[in-house]
Amino acid sequence: MNKKDIIKIIEILKSTYPDAKCSLDFTTPFEMLVAVILSAQCTDERVNKTTPSLFSKYSTPKDFAKIDIAELEQLIHPCGFYKNKAKSIKETAKIIEEKYAGKVPETMEELMALPGVGRKTANVVMLEAFNKPQGIAVDTHCKRIANRIGFSNKKEPEKIEQDLLKVIPKEYYKDVNHILIWHGRNTCMARNPNCANCSIKDFCKSIKK
Ligand code: SF4
Repeated sequence: MNKKDIIKIIEILKSTYPDAKCSLDFTTPFEMLVAVILSAQCTDERVNKTTPSLFSKYSTPKDFAKIDIAELEQLIHPCGFYKNKAKSIKETAKIIEEKYAGKVPETMEELMALPGVGRKTANVVMLEAFNKPQGIAVDTHCKRIANRIGFSNKKEPEKIEQDLLKVIPKEYYKDVNHILIWHGRNTCMARNPNCANCSIKDFCKSIKK
């Protein structure tokens, strides 16, 4: 696929989903980080139902560094994998409190060194918390659509991201992070994609006819 077509696809998807944005609720970079950790293997909707009661009691790294782990597990239980997530959140909070004076670090390298934070989470935090997109967060929607459209034939998220970064100009990173997720939720679903009404069907290599 040539660069002209790729930019055309992005522009069409921007017009199709003009309101596309991050669907997780948060008010601070640290809350964003906690919300993204909770969103692993869980829907944003479920996370948004869980975080209001959590953040009303605990919201800063200092709060979470001191939190009773059993209480944290209880509070985040609906998001699944609650034991691992509670451990990661508490350890991450401790590191941020002790090493970064309570401020979430603003580089991919520092974020990815935190427990429970992989490249996808770091990409989301850099974009949503700091408005400094560094790459493309490859989630399940992005992965599926990149494969279907023909942006990448790889299976591993890191390799798909590298393929995307080779062809997508940097000024589009922010938009691409949002529009692929919205396209995956609204049109190019995992089962029964709505190809007949897809705004980019003319460019898609795997359209169902
Ligand atoms: S044509 Fe179908 S498979 Fe291709 S991007 Fe659109 S919905 Fe997805």
